[in-house]
Amino acid sequence: MLRSFCRFLAAAAVLSLISPLAWPLSEAEIASHAEAAALARIREAAMADDYAYERLAALTDTIGPRLSGSPQAAAAVDQVAAEMRALGAVVQLQPVKVPHWVRGAETAELTAYPGRPAGVTQKLVLTALGGSTATPKGGLEREVVVIRSFAELDARAAELRDRIVLISIPFDQQLADNGHAGIAYGQGGEPRFRGPAAAAKHGAAAVLVRSVGGANFRLPHTGATVWSEGGTRLPAAALTVEDALLIERLSAKGPVRMKLLLTPQTLPDADSHNVIADWPGREKPDEVVVVSGHLDSWDLGTGAIDDGAGIATAMATIRLMKELGLQPRRTIRLVAFMNEENGTRGAKAYFEAVQKQIGTQSAAIESDAGAGRPLGIDAYVTAAALKRMQPLFDALKPIGATVPQRSERPTGVDISPLQRAGVPGFEPLLDTRHYFDYHHTAADTLDKVEPDHLRRQLAVMAMLAYWLAEQEQPLERQPVIKE
Ligand SMILES: [Zn+2]
Repeated sequence: MLRSFCRFLAAAAVLSLISPLAWPLSEAEIASHAEAAALARIREAAMADDYAYERLAALTDTIGPRLSGSPQAAAAVDQVAAEMRALGAVVQLQPVKVPHWVRGAETAELTAYPGRPAGVTQKLVLTALGGSTATPKGGLEREVVVIRSFAELDARAAELRDRIVLISIPFDQQLADNGHAGIAYGQGGEPRFRGPAAAAKHGAAAVLVRSVGGANFRLPHTGATVWSEGGTRLPAAALTVEDALLIERLSAKGPVRMKLLLTPQTLPDADSHNVIADWPGREKPDEVVVVSGHLDSWDLGTGAIDDGAGIATAMATIRLMKELGLQPRRTIRLVAFMNEENGTRGAKAYFEAVQKQIGTQSAAIESDAGAGRPLGIDAYVTAAALKRMQPLFDALKPIGATVPQRSERPTGVDISPLQRAGVPGFEPLLDTRHYFDYHHTAADTLDKVEPDHLRRQLAVMAMLAYWLAEQEQPLERQPVIKE
């Protein structure tokens, strides 16, 4: 009791000292108090908000996978546009021609290997990579050559002709565990990105890559592969880690043969859209802060973490502005990008539309790293700009998202063209230790998203968007990156 009374006296003494000095407040002080109050309101509202989770459930549970060109992708465009219109945002659908690749049957079995009992074959679990061609109708049966590095691929080029080439390079989960999942994905994903085209040059009949991911539950991870322009395209698939290891063990003892059937189709490019929804600024409506995610997803799961979470939190950012009656100086613009996964045509269409007035793009945010707990903000900005953002990081303290991570390269695939043209770019910095467990698999579903993490992600997106849109002077621009 006595102790608390003493504390009261001490507090009163401090107040009596401070109050006369703090009065009257300068205009700048009043503005910074108002900014801190608005950021706190946004944070508290976000932490009590289930709208983002509801939107995510609507996308994933009622529509499901949203691969470019599919009826589901079209339904997602309609759903997001209708919801944004209902909030009173100014909505436009930006036309985008997208690749239209459709998965077919995909089966494989080992038909010959050392020690195989008569009459026995072994079924394998795999999934076609986006852009894969089909095998002949009845499938193809060939010997498998296992390759463990790109150097080995070149060194053994002569052995690859008319073979099924398995490129088996592990994903480094240790890197992911230590906060470098992006680097682990870059390294582990290289065989998928460029392995099939490289093997095609050496005359391979088909290419398999070991799945890129950190959790091995015999789940294949799909994804795009990059063919060289005008070059040969092949049947290409991701094999589960377990089956890649099985083939490695067997082929160490002698020849292994596989029968492979893939029947995907590449259809003519389809009509689709980016959804753009503006929450107009009160003073500078022509200057925009983009808040975004990508609306398309791979076709195996329901695209909850990749990237329904980004879309849902971007949508909820607009809704929070409405709910809290906030209309910052500049326009906050939701962009639900189409076709990030297998073409980035949506990003190109948006950039082409704003390129001539690039000065109107004040800043761009994209969330596309899942739905893990936010740790801070990944910022492609100057050091001085990051320092200026300190009041924002202070306002994020109660939810622990305080790491100011300055990126040397553009961040967020869809907003990358904007950043290359000088626009400061941002992405919530998320815990991605388990992102690649589910990424591009059938297990990317709503249950992987922790509602509390999504609320925190919304807080980061909305506070950042508001802060950027409200600054009297926009953040200084980045150097233009030439090709
Ligand atoms: Zn994504």
